[in-house]
Amino acid sequence: MKLHKTLLLKVQSPNVGKKERLEKTIKLYSEVLKFYLEVIPKLGMYHIASMSNKSALSFLELNTVPTKAHPNPKYPIFSGVQTNIRRSAINKAVGMVKSYLSNLLRWHREGKELEHSKPSYPNPKNFSLTYYSTDVELKDLLLRRENESLAFVRLKVINDRGNYEFVNYPVKPYKRFYEKLSGLQAEGWKLKNTATLIKKDKEFYMAVVLEKVVKRKRFRNPGYVINVDLNVQRNLACVGIYELDWEDKVSKFYGIKFISGKIIKLVRKRDYLLGEIRRKQALTGRSPQEGDNGKLWRKVKNLNKDIALKVAKEIDKVALDMAKKGDVVVVFEKLKGLRGKRGKSRKLNRNINYWMRKSIQDRVEYLSFEHGYEVNFVYPHYTSRRCSMCGSKGERFSPKGSKALFGCKACGYVVNADVNAVFNQHFAYLSYLLHGGRKARPVVRVGISPKRRSLQRSTVVRV
Ligand SMILES: [Zn+2]
Repeated sequence: MKLHKTLLLKVQSPNVGKKERLEKTIKLYSEVLKFYLEVIPKLGMYHIASMSNKSALSFLELNTVPTKAHPNPKYPIFSGVQTNIRRSAINKAVGMVKSYLSNLLRWHREGKELEHSKPSYPNPKNFSLTYYSTDVELKDLLLRRENESLAFVRLKVINDRGNYEFVNYPVKPYKRFYEKLSGLQAEGWKLKNTATLIKKDKEFYMAVVLEKVVKRKRFRNPGYVINVDLNVQRNLACVGIYELDWEDKVSKFYGIKFISGKIIKLVRKRDYLLGEIRRKQALTGRSPQEGDNGKLWRKVKNLNKDIALKVAKEIDKVALDMAKKGDVVVVFEKLKGLRGKRGKSRKLNRNINYWMRKSIQDRVEYLSFEHGYEVNFVYPHYTSRRCSMCGSKGERFSPKGSKALFGCKACGYVVNADVNAVFNQHFAYLSYLLHGGRKARPVVRVGISPKRRSLQRSTVVRV
């Protein structure tokens, strides 16, 4: 799998002639891109989206570019378009259509239910030209000089005579550009010899891309297991850390961490806004997206995004910390999806919770590729209802002024309800590691006295 990072550089106001060439190039490119975005539906967008990028490119060229062998293509493109500009535009158009179709599919699956707006067919207003590696040279950018603040990139642009030729453009790397670049290079990121030209507010920018090839990790005998219970309504996340000793077949409880802190403030703010939306909804009968509720709803969505990113970052921090000592697996509960339970009253809450949990998991999974730990899932199988000490069914209860607790009548165990869920999830994951099945099986015995009611660091779980 390839990961990408982008660094942005501003093109320093080059002289008028040079700027005109940039304008000309990006204008032509945008016309070609528009042309292909119109042609793709005519030639069948599902058909094209099912092809590899390479075959889509030749299919579209066959149908638009007159050649000796095919002098009359179905939808001939206007003349005067350089091959590489055309190809770059085709690749971009195909990529846009592919991502449009997958967004559409996702919207039908769950976005509709989550009241997200339906994606529309790509109709770009801002254009960015991604250069082929043969049309850009970044060598100068990599030669770091102490006294010079400018570097040059060589780009092919269209000149007055309509030729496509290399021209030097000065760019100004921002203050910490080289620091960041060398830091990333030390981590194995490589600068790709390609660049994207972006026009924004009459200024031009270059985006350069760093790439890193990573493998999805799968550890047979992980050293540390981090079990995460995402309880986005209460604590956000409860994280249990376990150290596995494969020689003695022992899983030692290493520690527990609640992710809440400052992030809880954002949750409060969001819940307040949600309350406002509900109040207005009750008065006007409008859905959350309509009228002045739309504004509040957008705020709620942004807060949710922010919360999800921050929670994911905290989980990533724990994983990175443990990864210094050994192979780490972060385990989540597999989400059941949105289908199933219907019912209007709690729908909004349920949807938001689902979306939050999904976003947190996706983000941590993405970070895991970069940071070299594994992410895995277990099916929740009564993880919150079973007693983690004896396996009997127990109950949740919330004494005044205290967090939700879990109590077991069979053995008398009382513990924080999220901690109980994390314990059960850990057993389910151990069962999976040992037996392959993902459902929790009572194969794991807890090696401490059931009478002990408080959580201690020395808790040992025998497997
Ligand atoms: Zn019990």
